Order: sequence, then C-alpha cells, then structure tokens
Amino acid sequence: MPADRDMERIVSLCKRRGFVFPSSEIYGGLASCWDYGPMGAELKRNVKNAWWKAMVQERADVVGLDTSIMMHPEVWVASGHVQGFTDPLVECRACHLRWRADEIKSQRCPSCGGELTEPRMFNLMFKTSMGPVEEEGSTIYLRPETAQGIFVNFENVVTTSRKKIPLGIAQIGKSFRNEITTGNFLFRTREFEQFELEYFVKPGTDGEWLDYWVKERFDWYVKLGMRKENLRLREHDKDELAHYARACYDIDYLFPMGWSELEGIANRGDFDLVQHARQSGRDLSYYDAEAGEKYVPYVIEPSGGVDRSVLAFLIDAYDEEEVEGEKRTVVHLHPSLAPIKVAVLPLSRNERLTPLAREVHKQLSPGFMTDYDDSQSIGRRYRRQDEIGTPFCVTIDFESLEDKQVTIRDRDSLAQIRVPIEELPKTLEAKLKGEAFDASSLWAAREK
Ligand code: ATP
Repeated sequence: MPADRDMERIVSLCKRRGFVFPSSEIYGGLASCWDYGPMGAELKRNVKNAWWKAMVQERADVVGLDTSIMMHPEVWVASGHVQGFTDPLVECRACHLRWRADEIKSQRCPSCGGELTEPRMFNLMFKTSMGPVEEEGSTIYLRPETAQGIFVNFENVVTTSRKKIPLGIAQIGKSFRNEITTGNFLFRTREFEQFELEYFVKPGTDGEWLDYWVKERFDWYVKLGMRKENLRLREHDKDELAHYARACYDIDYLFPMGWSELEGIANRGDFDLVQHARQSGRDLSYYDAEAGEKYVPYVIEPSGGVDRSVLAFLIDAYDEEEVEGEKRTVVHLHPSLAPIKVAVLPLSRNERLTPLAREVHKQLSPGFMTDYDDSQSIGRRYRRQDEIGTPFCVTIDFESLEDKQVTIRDRDSLAQIRVPIEELPKTLEAKLKGEAFDASSLWAAREK
C-alpha cells in the first residue's frame, strides 16, 4: 500500500535526490520559486514530451506552436485579463499577511485571528516595461496563460498548415501570475509552465468535443501510471464558470492537502476569436470550403499545469515498503517519465569490472537515458535508483567477465534476470515499451 501521502516526504525526496531545489537557495531562497535539479529537469521534460507526443505527434488534427511570453498589450485587453483577471485581496491589520478573500472561511486572519481590511481587487498579471524609458505606453505584461498566443495566431496557422476544422493548436510554455497566496510546493507558484490545447470546432459540435477531450485528458494521466482512485472529474456549477466559459470540467488529483485541480477542460465558445477580431479589426472567421459556410469556430480548451503534473506524478508514484526487514523508498514512475531508464552498476569499482561496465554504458547511452554509478555499496546504489524511479538496473559482476552476461534488476518486482550483453539493448527496449508497463502493473507488481 502507498505510504502516507505527505507533502513533506515529497519535498525531502526532491531535495535529497536532485529533483527540485528552492530557487536562489544560497541567498535564502525566493518565495514559491523552485529550480528543477538534474532529476527534476529530466522528469519535467519527460512529462512535456509525453504530452506533446499524445497531443501533437500522434494526431493528424493538431499542430504545435511556440509563441512569445511578451505580447502586444491589447491582447490582454481583448482577452479580458486587464479588466477581469483579479482576485479579491484582504490584508490582516495586525500581522499584515495577505489572503485571498474567496479562499478563507472566516472574517478574521487565518494566521493570527486579527482584523482584515476590506477586499480590494488585485490584478494577477506581472507588469514590466519594454524599451529603455519607463513611460506610459511602454507597459507590457508577462503572459498569465499560453492560450492567447494561440488565438492571435489562429489565422496564421489556418492559412499555412493546410488543415481543416476541427483543428487543434497546442503549446507548452511558461506563464506568470502574481498569485496572492502561493504554496503547497510546486502546486501554486508565480512562475509555472502550462500545456494548453485550443481545439477549434464547428459551433454545434462543441458539446461532443468537450466530452471527447475530458475523457482523452483523464485517460492520459491514467496511461502514464496515475491511479484512477486518486483522480476525479468535477463539473463547474454555472455560477463558478469563468467569464469566457460555457461549460468546464476539472480533473482533480488527491493531493496531500486534498482534492485540487490538475487540469481544466473548458468550452470557451467563440469568446476569444470574437474579442480579438473586435480589438484588432481582423476578420478571424473560418471559411469551410466543403460546406460553403463561414463561421467563427468554437474552442474546447484542455489546459493543464506541467509543474502540477510533475508533483502529482511524484506523489502518486511515491511508496515506502519493507523488503527483507529493511525499509525501501521507491518511486514507481512510469518508464516514459522516469528520469533515468537504466543504471549501469558494476558490483564494485575494480580494474577488471570498470572497463566492461564502461563498455556497457557506452552501448546503452545512445538509446536510453543511462546513469553510471560505481561509488559506495551496491545496496546503497540500488536504493538511490529506487528513489529516483529508475525502472532497471544492470549489474556487472565477476561472472560477467567470463560468461559475458549481466543481471537486469526490475525496480517494481525486484525480479532479476541474466542476459547476454549483446542482447541488452534489445531486451531493455522490449521491457521499457512492453506490456509489463501498462500503467496498472506498476503497482500490481508490488501488491502481489
Ligand atoms: P486555480 O483555480 O488553481 O488558480 P485556475 O483555474 O486559475 O487555477 P487555469 O487558469 O485554468 O487555472 O490554468 C490552467 C492550469 O494551469 C491549472 O489547471 C493548473 O494546472 C495550472 N496553473 C494555474 N495556475 C497555476 C499556478 N499558480 N501554479 C502552478 N500551476 C498553475
């Protein structure tokens, strides 16, 4: 069974094994900013690659985009962010802590019980100025979502991609929000990364497409090993909907602090294209040549957080168990997300073993993200690999010198098999891709 799903343990694992460090740590850190270490950078890249593969590579109806973080300020007028991207802020008169009025239950400061100020609306966009002179007219914003980069390029993509509606445009990138309250580690930060798809459809088909994308996105997390019982779908009530949305579902994950949003899937109607057409004076409607019709498409938007997903995948994969009387911490990450796929571990640092082990590493590293480690005892090295979620360790021992075979150790079942060195890449590839790693087996292997 999974161990206590406690955030402290995840934060500590992240620090200990090089997944995530506090930003600018030698200067005391910067509130709610985090740096991804060597393992975290791999994990995060794998999450983004898995998303891109499912959403762009494997689909004929979606293309990718990579737009700039700084955009024309009128974009944010049209999108409603300048006017409406606000949260009600209250401040404690005693301890001066600030809170989101809609997130606290009582009229008093949740920290010290002090009296709170009246709420004032606080815009969440980060402002900066462009050019050498800070003056009116030079103010620009760091984008609070990647979606608008897609809407303003809709015409460019349609005319250059030779695609017809339904058509999706996908983007992964940084977004910035000057959140009033941050916290829960990577869950809510002021700088974060999003993966967003804007899927343009013919009005009238939007209901079906919303259902389709809700299911697709839910299944994506499950296919990557997240346990279904830790995921739920939640439909927004009408009074909860954002100003642009006709309907919205959240995919929630059971984080240590409770059920919280991992991704939102919204039916945005034609809100964005109509707004941008109005603000820019450009006709952003679509001409459907087959039907001989012109219309402004509706948009279904699955919008998720890369960092939030990284956190959820780690929490979900984290386990503590007892193996032969010893505690083992193991992270059952899906192999496609695991930072290291194969660790090459000579039994000891030894002048006879090292050359062969180096050779094995050289043979594997072009095909797999591979680690080489010959320091400390083999037991400690296995523990490290278990904690960073490495699915396979390859051990080279003295027998390997004679029979040219090595041992593959499976992270989840702890089963060991011996294979000829020349068959290693083929065997590992089959194992990493094979049915052994359909998501549910990650846990089943241990629970048997
Ligand atoms: P919340 O209600 O949690 O503030 P939201 O509904 O404003 O989120 P969206 O605007 O729908 O969020 O953003 C889409 C996704 O981007 C979210 O589901 C989340 O995964 C991610 N995201 C949003 N804000 C943050 C943040 N401050 N830190 C990390 N990820 C975020």
